[in-house]
Amino acid sequence: MSSNGFGAGAQSGTTAPVIRFERARKEYPDGTVAVSGLDLEVYEHELLVLVGPSGCGKSTTLRMANRLVELTSGRVLVKGEDIARTDPVALRRHIGYVIQNVGLFPHRTVGQNIGTVPALLGWDARRTRDRTAELLVLVGLEPGHSQRYPHQLSGGERQRVGVARALAADPPVLLMDEPFGSVDPAGRRRLQQEFWRIQRELGTTVMLVTHDIDEAVRLGDRIAVFSRGGRLEQLTDAVDLLARPAPGMVADFVGNGRAVRLLGIGELTSDDLGPVPRPGAALADPGPSAPLLAPAGALHLGSRLDDAFAALAAAGGRGVPVAGDGHVVVGVLTPDGLLGALRRITAQVSDVDVEGPPAAQ
Ligand code: ADP
Repeated sequence: MSSNGFGAGAQSGTTAPVIRFERARKEYPDGTVAVSGLDLEVYEHELLVLVGPSGCGKSTTLRMANRLVELTSGRVLVKGEDIARTDPVALRRHIGYVIQNVGLFPHRTVGQNIGTVPALLGWDARRTRDRTAELLVLVGLEPGHSQRYPHQLSGGERQRVGVARALAADPPVLLMDEPFGSVDPAGRRRLQQEFWRIQRELGTTVMLVTHDIDEAVRLGDRIAVFSRGGRLEQLTDAVDLLARPAPGMVADFVGNGRAVRLLGIGELTSDDLGPVPRPGAALADPGPSAPLLAPAGALHLGSRLDDAFAALAAAGGRGVPVAGDGHVVVGVLTPDGLLGALRRITAQVSDVDVEGPPAAQ
C-alpha cells in the first residue's frame, strides 16, 4: 500500500476516492479564475475524462492533482492525503503525466526516456531494462525501438513512448492531457483502443483531459463535462451523457448525431445476430457439423457497433459472420440486426430518436 508513497493515512475502503478535489479554486495572478470551487472524486481503477471547450479549466484541474498548479484555495487529496503537505517532486514520481507532443528528452534514446522514473527511483539497470522491454511490447512497439532517438520516430510512435514512459514505474495514478492530440485521426483511434486495453489490464486510475467529445465517450468510464471557470456541468457515463445531456451548455457541446455516437460505444451481443447458415444442410444429414471459423479480422461478440456498421457497408449489406470464442462463427449480422442493436442501446434512453431508413423520394 505504501509502495506508491501515499499509503500513510490513506483510507482503505475500496470506495474511497483516489483523487478528491474539495472546493478547489485556481485564480491566476492576472485575475483569471480558471477553476472556481470544484468538487470532484476519481475512483480507483476508473478512467475519468474531463471534457469541455478550450479554456474551460480542464488542464488547470489536471495540473492541480500533481501540483504543477498550486491551488488558490480548497484542497486536493490523493489517497486521502492533502497533497499541499507532500513533497511535489516525490508526488510526481508516483503520478504519471502524459501531455500532447509528449515532451520526450530529444538526446536520450527511447529506452532511456522510458527508464527516466525508474532511474530516479533507484531501480537497478537490469530491472529497468526488463521493464522497458515489457512496456514497449505493451504499447505495441518493437523492442528494437529502445535504441532509437525520438526524432527517428513517427508522431504516433512518440506518443506511444510517452505513454510507456508514464507507465514505467507502474504509477497508481496517471494524468493525461490531450495525450493523443498530435496523432492523425486513424492512428488516434488505434492508440485510443490500445490505451483503453492497457488501462483495463493494468487497472491504473486515470484522469484524462480532452476537448473531443468522441474521445471522451469512447474512453471514459465517467465523463465530467466542464464549462468556463472549471464548472462541473454534468458527471456521468457515456451512454447517459449521450442519452440525457443536461439542457443548455452540455446539450450544445454534445451536439447533434448523438445516436451515431452511441454506435461508437455500443457493442455487439448474441441477441443482435441471426443464425449461422449451414452449408450442405440440404444434403444427407452430415451429423453435427464442424464449427465454421471466422476469417482473421472478422467481427466478434463485443465489437463496437460502428465497426459492425463499417463491416456491413463493406459487405454491400449482405450478412457478415460474427465470431465468438476461438474464432468460431456464432451468428450472422444483418442490417436489421444492427438496427435492433441500436434500438437496444437506446432503449435505456427515452429521448434519442433512432430514425428508420429515409422514406423513398
Ligand atoms: P483548458 O485546459 O480547458 O483549455 P486551461 O485550464 O488551460 O483550460 O485554462 C483555463 C483558463 O485559465 C483560460 O482562460 C486560460 O487562458 C487561463 N490560464 C491558463 N493558464 C494560465 C496562466 N498560467 N496564467 C493566466 N491564465 C492562465
